[in-house]
Amino acid sequence: MHKVIHYRKKCIGCGVCYEQQPELWRMSKKDGKATLIRGVVKKEVSVLAIPETAVDKSREIAAACPVRIIKVS
Ligand code: SF4
Repeated sequence: MHKVIHYRKKCIGCGVCYEQQPELWRMSKKDGKATLIRGVVKKEVSVLAIPETAVDKSREIAAACPVRIIKVS
């Protein structure tokens, strides 16, 4: 099982993840940061299980994040 892990605290709200993968991400109207849709949040770290078909795209997004706070395990 693959997972996307988002260290949300350091998000700068650039919107790259949301623009490239809107099925997994949305931008918070409250604080302008990205939020992993249906992610399980613990201490500002969000984790979401993803299907095999979403892994390559998620890895691209992780590499594109300017502050490198997205990991794919
Ligand atoms: S790409 Fe990274 S910094 Fe930009 S909104 Fe997404 S998580 Fe935040």
